[in-house]
Order: sequence, then structure tokens, then C-alpha cells
Amino acid sequence: MTTSDVTLDADVIVVGAGMSGLYALKVLRDRGLRTIVLEKAPGVGGTWYWNRYPGARCDIPSLEYSFGFDPELEQEWVWTEHFASQPEIEAYLNHMADRYDLRRDIRCSDGVTAATYDETTDTWLFETEAGKRLRSRFAVMATGGLSAPYTPSWPGMDSFAGTVVQTSLWPEEGVEIEGKRVGVVGTGSSGIQVIPELAKVAEHLTVFQRTPAFTWPSQNQPLTDEEQTAIKARYRELREEQYASFSATAGTTGAVIFTFPTDDRRILDSTPEEREAAIEEHGFSACRIWSDTAGDLDANEMAVELFREMIRRTVRDPETAEALSPRGYPLGCKRPVLDTGYFETFNRDDVSLVDLRRETIEEVTPEGIRTSERFVPLDVLVLATGFDAMTGALTRIDVRGRDGRLLRDDWADGPRTYLGIGVEGYPNLFVCVGPGSPGVLATYPPQIELQVGWIADFVQYLVEHGLHSAEADAAAQEAWCAHVNQVAEGTMFTAASCNSWYLGANIEGKPRVFLPYVGGIPAYMARCNEVADHGYEGFVLT
Ligand code: NAP
Repeated sequence: MTTSDVTLDADVIVVGAGMSGLYALKVLRDRGLRTIVLEKAPGVGGTWYWNRYPGARCDIPSLEYSFGFDPELEQEWVWTEHFASQPEIEAYLNHMADRYDLRRDIRCSDGVTAATYDETTDTWLFETEAGKRLRSRFAVMATGGLSAPYTPSWPGMDSFAGTVVQTSLWPEEGVEIEGKRVGVVGTGSSGIQVIPELAKVAEHLTVFQRTPAFTWPSQNQPLTDEEQTAIKARYRELREEQYASFSATAGTTGAVIFTFPTDDRRILDSTPEEREAAIEEHGFSACRIWSDTAGDLDANEMAVELFREMIRRTVRDPETAEALSPRGYPLGCKRPVLDTGYFETFNRDDVSLVDLRRETIEEVTPEGIRTSERFVPLDVLVLATGFDAMTGALTRIDVRGRDGRLLRDDWADGPRTYLGIGVEGYPNLFVCVGPGSPGVLATYPPQIELQVGWIADFVQYLVEHGLHSAEADAAAQEAWCAHVNQVAEGTMFTAASCNSWYLGANIEGKPRVFLPYVGGIPAYMARCNEVADHGYEGFVLT
């Protein structure tokens, strides 16, 4: 049997209608390829559909966290704040879906449960939650890097009589918080954003913190017309800066999470007076300015002490300040966080902190949480407990390749990809911002334009050259994985004391493998383009 013997629903099926999926549909359709997008959520937007918790906003400047492929779109769209809120980004992505007439090819409210490669016809067969079966030649997995929520399970969890809600599955109709006793578990980016907002309305808020975070005041502001006009006047230049920069970021506004250090001085050579001056000038960012903190653990620890000093100066209760202070892991190991009044929230009388380094959650009862030290009565339990990052969304689908191989099994010891895009054993399947690509380490929309654009070029090349299948070559894949590991070695990301979701350390049993490519966008795209220029070397084309 050949492809011509089966009825195809589309040339390409894209899984996911978030940023990558929407852009994939746009570019694939522009290249004349019949494309269908399958999406689990009732609406488009991916991350920006699901994460609608109070306080959700992006921590990349909005004028940069947006697409640059259409100069008219970027000129017309008005961002109202330096860091856009979730509703504004969701509205922007909905606008894109309408503007480019994408909706007619997007099937919402029907998640993909299985994707199986049919070797006899070189096609992919997709099965959905609603029992639909669709077939295409190519599979583009735009399933997202932070889209598989991680839900801890404590004894008695199901017995809780109140409301349990996960930040990444916040219901559209909202959650009743006013006058309620609310508990939040988790102090990563999501927890740190939701905590100050919930504290404003809850009767009492209890924060359950396992690892204190490094977080910096975002200094978010409304974007003035003047600021917006000035940036839009040089938008093309700014986009070129983004495409060519390490993390697809041009640094247009105040606090920028991906850019530090900013100073040539070494903290190891500094005097106490110089460190005090740094605190007075830079506040929480005093720890970020020094040149030697990225490569030297002693220097790093000295810088962390400046951060702890700022917490002591901000949080009135010394015991709470100490509990909020990061210790035992270096600055730069976990994803930095930007906040709005996070530490100040702990000065409120109606907010308390439970330090899970000193006590443990023993059980959830119908009335609340019992720790090893106390009972906390709760009406609402908010889980800001993160994601099975970069691999979870793919391994939760039954993706079957050649010879019935299951991706979940093939990745049991860590994901193996070629360029973060192709997977040996899974022909004609392409992953967007997958493990082994810069992914979560770079600004998504410009990165997606580069990487998903590359995938679309590849698919077009295959079609135009009458090629039936493209599959990552095993040796090329191993060489790429070795390179991804080698670049991450010696960085704070992989320090022995670091336990981050970048390393899969937040998920029990997940192998400790550094997931994204830390070599930066220019090196990454140079390699991708070199591969394309050499007839897609490293892929076996049939
Ligand atoms: P996260 O960074 O993984 O944080 C999860 C939090 O839950 C951590 O504090 C973790 O503690 C805690 N936790 C997990 N399981 C627990 C358990 N069983 N008991 C107690 N505590 C537990 O997840 P996230 O906050 O959702 O953020 C994930 C990423 O999404 C971010 O790093 C960022 O890249 C992105 N994000 C961005 C924004 C933004 O743009 N502003 C907002 C939200 C998310 P440990 O640290 O000890 O594991």
C-alpha cells in the first residue's frame, strides 16, 4: 500500500493551537499544505488559554513577546503594559486566529490521545478523545514546553471538602476566593504571581513553600503611547536583534530576566562597602550584576547573600524572612521569576508561610492540610505545583513510531532528539520547541518563527522533492544529544545542588537530564540552517 491508497484528512496535522500551533498552521497553509490543528482546549492560545489564574502575566516585555512576521500586525496591535497580562495575550492570539482565518482548520475541545505511524502508507493516524480518527502525511507536535500540569498527590487528597484548583487549569468562570481560607502550594513563577493577588481577597492565605525562589520586582508599568511609538518606529531593527540574540530578547524594558550580569566587577574581589553600595543602587538585582557568579559557586553564594539581605530588609518578621531565603542551590540554576509585591505580601497579617523544609505535608483532610507540625483549615487549595516540562505533553500521548515503538518508552531514560525537532524511529514527525532546542530558554514567538518556519521549509522540501519520509538518523541524533549535554555542563543549570524542572527534578522518577539547548538561538539556528543547506543532513530521506 502507498500513500495514494489511503484518504488523507490533511497533508499535515498539527497537535496544539498555542503559539507554535497557530504559527505552524499559518506558515504551512501559506506553503500550500492542507493543515488541520487538533486542540484539547475549548479555545486557542495554549498556555495563555489554560493559565488564567489571578495575576497571570508574561515576564518578557510584551513588545518582544509577540510575532514579527507581519509588520502590519505588530504596528496595529496595542500592548497596554510592559509585561502583558494573560487576558491581553489570549486576546492577541485570538486576534491572530481571526486575522489569518485560522479557525476554519482548528478543531477545539478534542485532545489527541494517540498518534501512530503507519509504515505501509507512510502516514500518521491520530486518535482523539472524542473517538475521531484523522490521517495525514506529516505530524507537527506543537504540544508546548509547559503544558502537562504536575499534580502532587498527598494522602486524603480526594477527601478535601473544599475546592482544589490548579493554576494551570484555572476555570474560565473563576474561583470564589473572597472571604475564604486559601492555601497555595508552590512558589515558582505561577505561585509567586498568584499569591499577592489571592492575598488581597482571601480571608486568610497560607503559602506552603518547599523551595524559596529567586524573584525580582518586575517594575511593570503601563506602556505609554510615546514608548510604544518609539519602539514601533524601529520594530524591524528590534526584531532582527531578537532573531540574532542568544535568548531572542532585545531588552527593551526595565527588568529583563534573561540578561545578567551587567557589570565587569567580580564579587569575590569586592569590599563590604561595594556590596552595600550595590544593594542600595540595585536592590534585589544587586546579586545579578557581578561577572563571576555564573561560573564560580563561591562567588555565586556571596551574591545570593545580597539577595537574602534584601529579603531581610523587606520582610518584617525575621523568621519568615529566613524561611523565604534561598539556600543550598545557586543563583541561575532555576528559572528566574519576576513578581509584583511578592515579598511584601508576607508583611500582611492575613498571610502565613509554612516552610516545608522544616515540616512536611502529612495528609489532606476534608477540612484542610495537616503537616507534621500543625493543622491548617482551608476552603480552597490552590496547586501552583508546575509541569512535567518539555517532555510531559508528548509522553502523555501514545505516540507510536516505526515497529510499534512507543515514544514514552524510548524516552524513559531521557528524551533523544535531533535538533529538538526530529526523533529517530518516528518518521515525518516534527516537534516544535522540543527538548534539545532552546525552547524554554528563549522568547517564544520569535523563536517559533525561526524554528517552526524551518520545519515548514523542510516539509515543503520533502513534498517538492517527492520524498515520502524523513527520519532523524541515529548517529546524528546521538551527536546532537551529546552536544546539548556538553554545552550545559559547567553551568549553574546543572550544578550538583540544582534541582529544577529544566532537569526534570520536579517529577518523581523522571531521569535527571538537562532538557533545553543552552547554546543560544544564533548557534542553534546556524546549525539548523547548515543542516538544511546540506540537503537536511542527519535526516534519512526516502
Ligand atoms: P515551578 O516553577 O515548577 O514551581 C512549582 C512549585 O511547586 C515549586 O515551588 C515546587 O517546589 C512546588 N511543588 C511542586 N510539588 C510540590 C509538592 N509535592 N509539595 C510542595 N511543593 C511542591 O512551576 P510554575 O510556577 O508553574 O512555573 C513553571 C514555569 O512556567 C516557570 O519557570 C516559567 O518558565 C513558566 N511560567 C512563566 C510565567 C511568566 O511568564 N511570568 C508564569 C508562570 C509560569 P520545588 O521548587 O521544591 O520543586
